[in-house]
Amino acid sequence: MPATRLMPTQESADLIALTRDIVDKELRPRVDQAEREAAFPREVFRTLGRAGLLGLPYPEEQGGGGQPYEVYLQVVEEIATAWASVGVGVSVHALSCFGLATQGTDEQINAWLPDMLAGDVLGAYCLSEAHAGSDPAAMTTRAVRDGDHYVLNGAKAWTTHGGEADFYKVMARTSDDGGRGISCFLVPADSEGLSADNPEDKMGLMGSTTATMLFDNVRVPADRLLGVEGQGLAIALSGLDAGRLGIAAVAVGVAQSALDVAIDYAQTRETFGTTIIKHQGVSFLLADMAAAVESARATYLAAARLKDAGLPYGRQASIAKLVATDNAMRVATDAVQVLGGAGYTKDFPVERYMREVKVMQIFEGTNQIQRMVIGRALDKDNSGRIQVRPAES
Ligand SMILES: Cc1cc2nc3c(=O)[nH]c(=O)nc-3n(C[C@H](O)[C@H](O)[C@H](O)COP(=O)(O)OP(=O)(O)OC[C@H]3O[C@@H](n4cnc5c(N)ncnc54)[C@H](O)[C@@H]3O)c2cc1C
Repeated sequence: MPATRLMPTQESADLIALTRDIVDKELRPRVDQAEREAAFPREVFRTLGRAGLLGLPYPEEQGGGGQPYEVYLQVVEEIATAWASVGVGVSVHALSCFGLATQGTDEQINAWLPDMLAGDVLGAYCLSEAHAGSDPAAMTTRAVRDGDHYVLNGAKAWTTHGGEADFYKVMARTSDDGGRGISCFLVPADSEGLSADNPEDKMGLMGSTTATMLFDNVRVPADRLLGVEGQGLAIALSGLDAGRLGIAAVAVGVAQSALDVAIDYAQTRETFGTTIIKHQGVSFLLADMAAAVESARATYLAAARLKDAGLPYGRQASIAKLVATDNAMRVATDAVQVLGGAGYTKDFPVERYMREVKVMQIFEGTNQIQRMVIGRALDKDNSGRIQVRPAES
């Protein structure tokens, strides 16, 4: 009996079936070539958008799918079983929409969010800078008010979808007041003075373009400010809590695929007169891999249930990101081991999985930073017993 994905409703089970159908028809046939050629699959995002899969966790009245995070994340996981770059892209797009959906005025939401959630326009999220990655409050990109515009100057490093996106959610400094001096803007890609540097030449996720975005006197209408001046870092970080769950789901999807390939191989490859899965050394490795995948999935779902119930979930999001990505790294590495020499070749996808999951321990907060977040939360609010409350309250 294979593992069971238990969905909360028939509608959400149908959503998984729809996702698998699109994944099999549109993603699996394209992934190898696109990853080899570092080709950004813009069409695939349009297909996902048209199917309603890009706006799933947002309210229906805003043009989203009205699905709980528990469901949205499992859709992301299914996408990532076939193509990590696209799973990451869906998660980054959701992150790019987050500030507008939660902090936007009715006017801003009505003007921009429907197109964003329908996938007609693709988003990117610009927080990091070359010298401000783990410590975003050290950023120097500036936005200076000039009449009814802001003028942006600086460079935002490591932008996923950089040069491919239609809009950029940009955190920039509006005062010198440290983390409280940062504001959040939605910048259209065709703004004059905005350009993408050459894409990074990465270890993996080749289908996901990563580039530094250069801001040279970019004039942005003042109504492109989200929330109020100084609120930008808070908007960025609250979005990251949700984004980290997306990355956890992607990592679980890739790890599941690595496990599946390893099991298939172990059931057919023979040494010493029997299939290698019959050697205890290999079957225990596979058992540990299965335990790592299933416990990581349970961890992100537990955090998602807190979010869906409207409860604080930041610590659990960091735990989910930490557990899922560290587990995925171990599972992908062990999958290469199970395949022996074949695992080290490009004849099988496990070497790609290993390269892909490495970055998941790095972006959206390195796993050292996740431990810092978890440790601070333990120090701050871990007094007393675990609280008990019904999900519907
Ligand atoms: C492929 C890719 C895509 C990305 N996409 C985006 C994106 O779309 N948008 C965006 O804004 N950013 C993006 N990033 C940037 C990413 O979030 C940063 O790389 C990450 O936050 C780490 O920052 P850094 O690279 O500057 O490392 P640094 O901050 O320089 O850290 C270097 C090392 O020091 C450790 N370290 C730093 N501070 C501490 C501390 N206090 N305690 C313990 N250890 C510490 C780190 O864990 C790390 O191991 C992306 C990065 C990559 C590689």
